[in-house]
Amino acid sequence: MIRSHLSRREAAKLVLAAAALSTGPLGRAEAQSLQDVWVTVIGAGIAGLGAARALADLGAKVTVLEAKPHIGGRLLTDYSLGAPFEIGAGWIHGPNGGNPVMDLAEAVGADLFVTDDDNLVVYDAAGDRVSDADLTDLDERYWEMLEEIDETLEMTDRRSLDAALKDITPSTARDPLIRWALTAFTEFSTGGPIEKLSASYYDEDDVYPGADVVLTGGYDKILAPLAAGLDIRFSTKATLVEYEQGDGAYIYADGPDGEQRFEADYVVCTAPLGALKAGQIGFDPPLPRGHRSRIEDLPMGDVTKVALKFERAFWPTDVQYFGFMTEEKGKWPYVLNYRTFTDQNILVALSFGNYAGVAEAKSDAEIWAEIKAVMQTAWDGVEDPTQMIVTRWSRDPDTLGAYSYTGVGITPDDYDDLREPVEDVVFFAGEHTYFDFHGTTHGAYMTGLWAAEAIVETADG
Ligand SMILES: Cc1cc2nc3c(=O)[nH]c(=O)nc-3n(C[C@H](O)[C@H](O)[C@H](O)COP(=O)(O)OP(=O)(O)OC[C@H]3O[C@@H](n4cnc5c(N)ncnc54)[C@H](O)[C@@H]3O)c2cc1C
Repeated sequence: MIRSHLSRREAAKLVLAAAALSTGPLGRAEAQSLQDVWVTVIGAGIAGLGAARALADLGAKVTVLEAKPHIGGRLLTDYSLGAPFEIGAGWIHGPNGGNPVMDLAEAVGADLFVTDDDNLVVYDAAGDRVSDADLTDLDERYWEMLEEIDETLEMTDRRSLDAALKDITPSTARDPLIRWALTAFTEFSTGGPIEKLSASYYDEDDVYPGADVVLTGGYDKILAPLAAGLDIRFSTKATLVEYEQGDGAYIYADGPDGEQRFEADYVVCTAPLGALKAGQIGFDPPLPRGHRSRIEDLPMGDVTKVALKFERAFWPTDVQYFGFMTEEKGKWPYVLNYRTFTDQNILVALSFGNYAGVAEAKSDAEIWAEIKAVMQTAWDGVEDPTQMIVTRWSRDPDTLGAYSYTGVGITPDDYDDLREPVEDVVFFAGEHTYFDFHGTTHGAYMTGLWAAEAIVETADG
C-alpha cells in the first residue's frame, strides 16, 4: 500500500475553483499542500469533480474513475435538438444567497433565464382550462393544507405524506386539483411518491432564495473548469475498494483494458445512492453497519423527462408551464415550454412519483402515444414530434434512480452520517449525503468540497 508522506508546506499556493474559494474553509490561506497524497475519486458528477478539482489544486495526485464515457453524471446536457435539453438537472434552484453553483455559472459566464412558476395554465381531465381564480385558490389551499400537516404532526410520526393528508385533511386531499399539485409540485421537487414520503421530514430540507433559473446555453458548461486537466479514466467502473486505516486503499475497476487496480491514500466515493444500494461497489472490509443501513434505508426517487421537438408550435407559446390533471397521478402532469426561452418548438413533458418508473419501462412510441392523448384533451392540431428524447434514470445502471428522497422513517442524520469518514480512508460524497440540499446540484457540489476538506484535515493529522 502507498504510504502517505504528507507535505505540510505552509501557505501552499491554492488555485481552487472560484466556487470552492467562496464556499469552504479550503479556500483559507493556511490550507496545506497535499503534494504527496494520492486520491482516487469514484464518479465524475458535480460532487466528484468538485472534490477532485479542490484536491488537485492543493497538489494531490488525483485519479477520477468514471463509469460513463463522459463527465457530468446527473448533470448532463443533450444538444441534438437545437436547444440544450437537460437530461438530468434542469434548474439552479434558488440562485441567490450564496448558492455555490451560481458561482460556477458566473465563472463560465452562463446565460441565465429566470423561469416563472406563476406563468402556468392548468387543464382539467377533460382538457378544460382551470380558471385563474381557481388556481389562486389552489395556491392558498395547497399551502394551508401542508402547513396544517406540519403543525399537527410530531417529528416522530411515521405516516407517509399521503396517509397523513388523508387522515388530517381528508376532503382537501381528495380534491383533484390538490392531487395534481401534489404530484406536479411535491413529487417533482422531492423525487419521491407521496405514498412513501415521510410526512414529518419530506419538506424539512433547506432552500436558497430566489426564483429558479435555467442555463440557456447548457447546464453542463459549468463543469468544464472543474474537470480541466484532471486525470479522468472514462468508461472505468469501480467494483471493489479494499481499505485499511493508515494504509490507504486499493481500488479495483473494470475499464476499457479489463480489470485495473489503483492505489490511493484516500478514496472519495460519489457513486449515486442507487448504485450503492445495488451493491455495485464492494468494500473490504464491509462498511460499518451505520453506513450500510443508511445506504439500504435511504430511498432513491424517480423523475422522467421527455423532450419533444415539433415542426410547429400548436400550443400557447408564451406560457411557461402547462399542467394536465391526468386521472393517474404522476402521468405527464407537467410540461415545460421551451418557446419561452428558446426559438425551438420544444416541449418537455414530465412524469413523477410511482408513474415515473412505470413510464420508463415503456417504449418511446408508447410514451408518445400517452403524452399525445393527454395533450389532445386540451389542444387541437397536436402533431407527432420530429425528435424525441426520453430519460430513463431508474434504468441507468450507474445511477438507478433520479435523486434521493426522505422516505417514511428517514431523518436528516440518515443523510448526513453518510459523510462520516470510514477508517479515515473512504469519504462519501454526493447528493445523498447532505440532508439540507439533497437532490440538488449545489448540495452535491458542497459535499464534494467537504470531502476534499475532510481529506486535508485528515492528511494534516
Ligand atoms: C431528472 C433529474 C432532474 C433533476 N433536476 C434538478 C434540478 O433541476 N436542479 C438541481 O439542482 N438538481 C436536479 N437534479 C439532481 C442533481 O442532478 C443531482 O443531485 C446531482 O447532479 C448529483 O450529483 P452527484 O455528483 O452526487 O452524482 P452524479 O451526478 O450521479 O455523479 C455520480 C457519477 O458516478 C458515476 N458512477 C456510478 N457508479 C460508478 C462506479 N462504480 N465507478 C465509477 N463511476 C461510477 C456515475 O456514472 C456518475 O457520473 C435532477 C436529477 C435528475 C436525475
